[in-house]
Amino acid sequence: MSSASYRSTRSALEESLSFEDVVMTGLAHDGGLFVPSSIPTLDKGFIEDWKNLDFQQLAFKIMRLYISTTDIPDNDLSILIEKSYSTFREPEVTPLKTLDADKQIFLLELFHGPTYAFKDVALQFVGNLFEYFLEKRNKLVSEETKKQRITVVGATSGDTGSAAIYGLRGKKNVSVFILYPTGRVSPIQEEQMTTVEDLNVHTLSVKGTFDDCQDIVKQIFGDRDFDKKYSVGAVNSINWARILAQMTYYFYSYFQLMKLVGSSDGKKVRFVVPSGNFGDILAGFYAKSMGLPVDKLIIATNENDILDRFLKHGRYERSGEVKATYSPAMDILISSNFERLLWYYIRQNLTKQDDKEAGRILNSWMSQLKSDGSFTADASVVEQARSDFDSNRVSDEETIETIKNIYDAHPSKYVLDPHSAIGVRTSLSFAAKDPERNANYISLATAHPAKFAEVVDKALLAVEGYSFERDVLPTELKALSTKKKRISLVDEASVEKVKEIIVEKLGE
Ligand SMILES: *Cc1c(COP(=O)(O)O)cnc(C)c1O
Repeated sequence: MSSASYRSTRSALEESLSFEDVVMTGLAHDGGLFVPSSIPTLDKGFIEDWKNLDFQQLAFKIMRLYISTTDIPDNDLSILIEKSYSTFREPEVTPLKTLDADKQIFLLELFHGPTYAFKDVALQFVGNLFEYFLEKRNKLVSEETKKQRITVVGATSGDTGSAAIYGLRGKKNVSVFILYPTGRVSPIQEEQMTTVEDLNVHTLSVKGTFDDCQDIVKQIFGDRDFDKKYSVGAVNSINWARILAQMTYYFYSYFQLMKLVGSSDGKKVRFVVPSGNFGDILAGFYAKSMGLPVDKLIIATNENDILDRFLKHGRYERSGEVKATYSPAMDILISSNFERLLWYYIRQNLTKQDDKEAGRILNSWMSQLKSDGSFTADASVVEQARSDFDSNRVSDEETIETIKNIYDAHPSKYVLDPHSAIGVRTSLSFAAKDPERNANYISLATAHPAKFAEVVDKALLAVEGYSFERDVLPTELKALSTKKKRISLVDEASVEKVKEIIVEKLGE
């Protein structure tokens, strides 16, 4: 079976879906996530062949293995990739910087996209894919038939909303509605979302909490009539295309590292990834499975530590409530993408490779998680997880401390954002356990510090000579505060009111 064939993690049926199907569907109808049924493995010589490719060329090589040419022909795929990364401010797209040469810690900066967050790497591509597939479908229908459109509806506590908006702005046949809680997102995040001029973008400031916003979105998704009329779509982290787009920087940074340290240094390579929904690090798992020589993928969590607890105790168990931490983009109860990893491990442990049986087992674990709030994985699955992954949990206090320590120690006073700081803290703690320096660490930096001004200021305000405006805030973000905002105020957290606004805006 070709690698470009997909199935749901929870399905006990024969299934073979195309890349286009899974991108446009998002979540499988049985509640599972889409996975390629086999992970392509690379020929031995791939490092020599690929090591000098630029980011876009590498993205093409990798994506080509997961997307059939009937879904997207070569030339179109190249154009989509070029377009998606032309919006980045750095020619390398995701540059690798030396953070601590002595401890062999390198920082992979993923925040040079339009909204200064790592989610841009995937969402810039996803927006172009939506437009591409809709256009392709609309070419097949006659003029009189209604054109296919998609209405993306999402809730955000700040970070994801702007990345989604910048991914979808100005795209043909796509409208996007982002709900956020009034007064509860940071001023910069609100400015980023509401100053976009494209008429297909709509921001709704809802009087209520983030949970209220999310409930409204869920209700809209559950409304079949509404969906039939307006084709409601999602761009959350469960979309397979996001995982795929994120694989590129694992390969790219590996080659960058070889150039920085010399490929002859022969040391192990470990990736350290600030994790929430497990989407970012899962792309690293695919890269490792394809043959990238990675020793370990290290999960760095904040105090919402379900992943760290799983690796330690083998039990996947949600805690009672989500904790609001200094790294809000990682505040989750359950890491949705973890289920994709489990599916491969479960299948590997069956006496014969049986996709349907793996789906059946995973489905029973997920039902247990839903009803009891936890499940215990087979010992063999836990063992496999421990051979690919390691983990560490970082508190708010340690996050602040790390931002300050790195600023103090770094020759050019590097300012970390709180999410990236969790990764760096974890890299430092692993480096300390390895005094012989047998490993190089690539620590993923997932956001620009300007996006989390409050926490960064908390860490650095007392430091003499530090100025947020001067040292952290990019001019481009500074300029947003003078731009005109477009917001629909929703004075009550009511699904009816939100639907009314959506219908009204779509009519315009
Ligand atoms: C989304 C996000 C993360 C977590 O990534 P996952 O793919 O959910 O694990 C980490 N840092 C930042 C800044 C993010 O926006």
